[in-house]
Amino acid sequence: MNASREGAQSIMHCQRCRSPVEEGETYDFFGQALCEDCYIYMVNPPRVCDPTAVAGAVTTRKQLGQSGTAGLTELQKHIYRTIEERGKITRDELLREVKVKPEELERQIAVLRHCELIRAFKEGDKVYLTKW
Ligand SMILES: [Zn+2]
Repeated sequence: MNASREGAQSIMHCQRCRSPVEEGETYDFFGQALCEDCYIYMVNPPRVCDPTAVAGAVTTRKQLGQSGTAGLTELQKHIYRTIEERGKITRDELLREVKVKPEELERQIAVLRHCELIRAFKEGDKVYLTKW
């Protein structure tokens, strides 16, 4: 048919900053297709959007004498242990490991970040989750 390059992909646009992203290279954040930079921004905002929520989560855990994975749900523990075992893991790999819906995983990641158990970072062209 045509001589297009192998794996020719259509170009999407990031729903946040509108920059062009190759299809399949976007990151899904609550149903929004984002470029990598925006995804990192959304997962790890430079400024904490709700400091009291984070402080509250940490304080509550301290009051309850909880540290590490104490007080977490089974799913949250599973996610945390998977990240701990791997050292670092991409969101897609984590999704394959824990087998939940992406939005569910996103919610749990948000909780774990609030409890300062995990964080996201960028290395090369990938976003990894790792222990805090
Ligand atoms: Zn973007």
